[in-house]
Amino acid sequence: MNYTGAHVSAAGGVANTIGRAVEIGANAFALFTKNQRQWHAKPLDPAQIEAFKEACDQHGFGPRQILPHASYLINLGHPDSAALEKSRAAFIDELERAEQLGIHLVNFHPGSHLRRLSPSQSLTLIAESINQALERTAFTTAVIENTAGQGSNLGYSFEQLAEIIDQVENKERVGVCIDTCHAFAAGYELTSTAGAARVWDDFERIVGMEFLKALHVNDAKSALGSRVDRHDSLGDGNIGLEGIGAFISDTRLDQLPMILETVEPARWPEEISWMNAQLTPSADAWSSQKRPLPSP
Ligand SMILES: [Zn+2]
Ligand SMILES: [Zn+2]
Repeated sequence: MNYTGAHVSAAGGVANTIGRAVEIGANAFALFTKNQRQWHAKPLDPAQIEAFKEACDQHGFGPRQILPHASYLINLGHPDSAALEKSRAAFIDELERAEQLGIHLVNFHPGSHLRRLSPSQSLTLIAESINQALERTAFTTAVIENTAGQGSNLGYSFEQLAEIIDQVENKERVGVCIDTCHAFAAGYELTSTAGAARVWDDFERIVGMEFLKALHVNDAKSALGSRVDRHDSLGDGNIGLEGIGAFISDTRLDQLPMILETVEPARWPEEISWMNAQLTPSADAWSSQKRPLPSP
């Protein structure tokens, strides 16, 4: 089975995330373990760590159902060595914070070459950054998110994700999170059932299903191949429900947190129950949900 949820707020402390996830009917969630737009953060408060772990136990959130998102500032492929070191230290801090919370996955955007390195040179720096971080931490898996390819952001093609993974020494602790909006904006046509299956076929051939650790489930305001990252609510954007439904219910997917980063949090409960309906083996869940119940 797979798990569904959204990226919830950690305002007031990380332990508050679990209640927010439960409230929207989620059995998976994402969070920031520190302010995602600042370099430095206080260490996690031991009382918060305990409260977080207790709430996870109480509500049945296992380590594979929680997907922290690392800071947006981190660029593990930075051409400048001082800036690269700063990013590497911040990335290690992200993995350490997750480990303190008992979380096994950390999701991050791979990095950007800033037009000062070739894509391959920057991808090698990203892999080296991951190697260093895995050596310095105990058990977290570094989960590389595919990007829309905006600016000089790397990781927008399955080939680039594979190029990073190929250079990571510990293959047990590296994986990928596929964001549907980013994939679509990067040119992966997943608007139909057939298209969604073809994208997974490509992923299986180029990266390998064993590396898939999570999904970000978003519709796209941006156009196919536009390389622009703009999320939309499910069904409102250019991917649409047929493609998203087929993409998340592919039988090759198992044990994955499927996380909404859609634009209207008020709609998350409805979007989560729609995702759950797609994931149940009874086919045609969306249309049966829409159809009135048969009269007795
Ligand atoms: Zn995402
Ligand atoms: Zn995005």
